[in-house]
Amino acid sequence: MANHFYLPFERKGQADYHHLDEYEKYQLSFHPERPKYLDYLEIFSHPEKCFKSDDYGACLIQTHRATLEIEDEKIPVMLIGQQTGPTSDYKELTQLMRNNGEMGKWNDGMPTPASYERAIKAIDAANKENRIIIIFVDTPGADPTEASEERGIAWRIGDTIHALAEANVPTISVIINRACSGGAIALTGCDITLAMEYSTYLVITPEACSSILFHTRSRANEAASASRITSKEGFDLGIVDVMVPESDGPAHRFREQAIASLHAYIEKAIIKLQAIPKGKLLSSRIDRWSKIGQWSETTVEEVNAIQQRVSRLPESNSDGYLKRHKGCYTSNGVHNYDPVRFDKLKDNGFVCDVCGYRYTRPSIWDCMDNLFDDGTFIEHAETKLIIDKDILGFPEYKEKLKSVRKKTGLMTSMITGNGKINGEDIVFCGADFGFFGASFCMTTGEKIWRAAEIAIKQKKPIILQASGGGARMHEGCSSMVSIPKAHVALTRVEQAGLPVITIITDPTLGGVAIGYGSRGIRLFQKHAGNIGFSGRRVIEQYTGKKTTKDFQTTPWLKKHGHVKHVVTQTNIREEIVSILEKD
Ligand SMILES: [Zn+2]
Repeated sequence: MANHFYLPFERKGQADYHHLDEYEKYQLSFHPERPKYLDYLEIFSHPEKCFKSDDYGACLIQTHRATLEIEDEKIPVMLIGQQTGPTSDYKELTQLMRNNGEMGKWNDGMPTPASYERAIKAIDAANKENRIIIIFVDTPGADPTEASEERGIAWRIGDTIHALAEANVPTISVIINRACSGGAIALTGCDITLAMEYSTYLVITPEACSSILFHTRSRANEAASASRITSKEGFDLGIVDVMVPESDGPAHRFREQAIASLHAYIEKAIIKLQAIPKGKLLSSRIDRWSKIGQWSETTVEEVNAIQQRVSRLPESNSDGYLKRHKGCYTSNGVHNYDPVRFDKLKDNGFVCDVCGYRYTRPSIWDCMDNLFDDGTFIEHAETKLIIDKDILGFPEYKEKLKSVRKKTGLMTSMITGNGKINGEDIVFCGADFGFFGASFCMTTGEKIWRAAEIAIKQKKPIILQASGGGARMHEGCSSMVSIPKAHVALTRVEQAGLPVITIITDPTLGGVAIGYGSRGIRLFQKHAGNIGFSGRRVIEQYTGKKTTKDFQTTPWLKKHGHVKHVVTQTNIREEIVSILEKD
């Protein structure tokens, strides 16, 4: 039996780790022999398990109370670690792999809702016990199954980021191996992010990125290269604060050296965070996140030349009717031809009440027309000139931005401003699905940040209209790192005693759902679908099974206990006003 595992480019002991291509670097970051969370426990004294749970996937995030001795001081810490498998000893692993029962519980390293529930409990305990939180990040992504959606994985990830944004103790995250997608960003919204030299930090796997970009999975190396996923690139882009050297060589071959190196850098991070007086922790956190993300500023002239109201509503005739969509069949197979009433269609969220066909996704301009008292919306001067920046030189991003601005009449996917609802003045952030699928990007984070500051200054409630399928691949991992930034912003609004209300529309998935989609009082549109973490297609592809018919719709989520408020296009204004009056 082999004692070691070798990647294709590793000839026994002779691989040249300084000259790897981008995809090889990616593969190396989750080499099965790289030390895992439990291996790094040796840095600490007296680690003790915090919580036991037999829930499926609970072992994928483990928690320990421990102390770290720095000179003569014993510092109490709370360790939270993603553990992707039972061991980093390859021989032991191959033996365990023969035992299906043992490997099954590791779920290919993909945390489930139970995993994140454990992390939240540990953060709460650390707050109470005044322990510095140290998180070890290592995951290919969160579990893409119907069972995890049923248990609200999007909201559990969102709650984890929320808990870290509010923590009253210093927080440190360390990317030890591969930190991919929302499953990783759940745990990296910390005061300092460290990354091991041979780790990767990414929003989407190179294979999936390649298949979107080039319609084939075989150009993963180009996709990895375009996305700039290594820790060094993350450091250059400002989303990793400290790179932890693996000077002798990668940790799977130089284990003790790598562990010693991380030990030294964790000590440094703790000393730095301990220097912040307790009362200044939150303001220092605010200062850190205010600097996250990059964008460009345009001119008023350019905004005036491009920005214009664009509607996507279907047009009705003078009697208020419009043609029924093509191919409308009842469940009994009866073909419907009769025209539909516009108001009825509007009340139904532009979804056909016979067959469920969606006529349109209204533009954010349409939504604002519906939401606000006539002519009361005024865009914030503070956010109006911010535009998306192509920091990676990502294939075709610049060209696509140009055409999409024209198509939507928007400068970025999000627009913010003040508007009145039944005379009540509120701060609004709304995303338009037509703009890159309203994917969460760096300007989304910054616009929410500035709008939150306006809400605090003016003592006004903030209402966010969620829309979008995920984080924007074209900005690489930087788009995803703006998600915790939005959480910190909304935490500030809540701590100022102001209401946060989020309108959940079709779709609210991935980065949008775990970002602002998981915050505040949530109003679910009655006829919305595609709400959750992983999209239906991803789940069906992964599990090889069809999902339930009404999967990820508002009624389905309600059935599973995730929905309290349901709204329609017609009653949304009254619902908001009644919530604000109660508040
Ligand atoms: Zn129909």
